[in-house]
Amino acid sequence: MDNRTEQLADGVWRIEVGFAINAYLLANDGQGDAEGLTLVDTGTTTSGPRLVRSIRMLDLAPRAVGDILLSHWHPDHSGSAARFVRSEAAPLVHAGQADLPAVRGDDPRPQRRAAAGDVSRLGRLLAGRLRPGPAVSGATGLVDGATLPVAGGLRVVAAPGHTGGSLAFHLPQRGVLLAGDAALNVLWLSRGPGPIRSARRQEAATLRRLATLDFHILGLGHGPVVAKRAQQRLAALADRAQRRGLG
Ligand SMILES: [Zn+2]
Repeated sequence: MDNRTEQLADGVWRIEVGFAINAYLLANDGQGDAEGLTLVDTGTTTSGPRLVRSIRMLDLAPRAVGDILLSHWHPDHSGSAARFVRSEAAPLVHAGQADLPAVRGDDPRPQRRAAAGDVSRLGRLLAGRLRPGPAVSGATGLVDGATLPVAGGLRVVAAPGHTGGSLAFHLPQRGVLLAGDAALNVLWLSRGPGPIRSARRQEAATLRRLATLDFHILGLGHGPVVAKRAQQRLAALADRAQRRGLG
């Protein structure tokens, strides 16, 4: 198998779509594309062809992608969603309620709207630069606790912190948690770059909540999968976040 695509569990694959940028492919029936495929995140605007190639290399059909779940609105995750929507697959795109205006193109500079205390000063300076990916006007919202018939059952978990509408996706039958950018695993497991967070006050509580879920494989938006002591390591990260007064 291509070294930039790896299987995490039955019907669950990580696809590296750019430098340390991940998307995840899920088989709705837990094995192939007979009941459709679900994509979690889409990389940047240039990741589309790479994603399509990787899906084909797994002997699956890109046109079977019926749903795209976005962990959040940032352009390195939502970047190729619009392109998929225009393709033969024409999937439905879903995101967290608070991120919907950004994903739909109704809010071109979401950082600017964040409340004081939710965004750092540097974050405000960067606000004009951090733009969502190409708009998906028909995107719909996913709420906390929703369950989808994907790979043995997928549960939507609200994970505000990195953005107000950030989502995590829990596959309890597979022991997998896909947590978007709630944490980062580039070089080491961390909370990621502070300035681009837009709901900082909720971050520690989100990490704590995610760490209570039952999983042994943690897939993040950036960097390799955490497959050893994943739950304990996320709990330790939550502890550190809380000690720094961000709880
Ligand atoms: Zn990201």
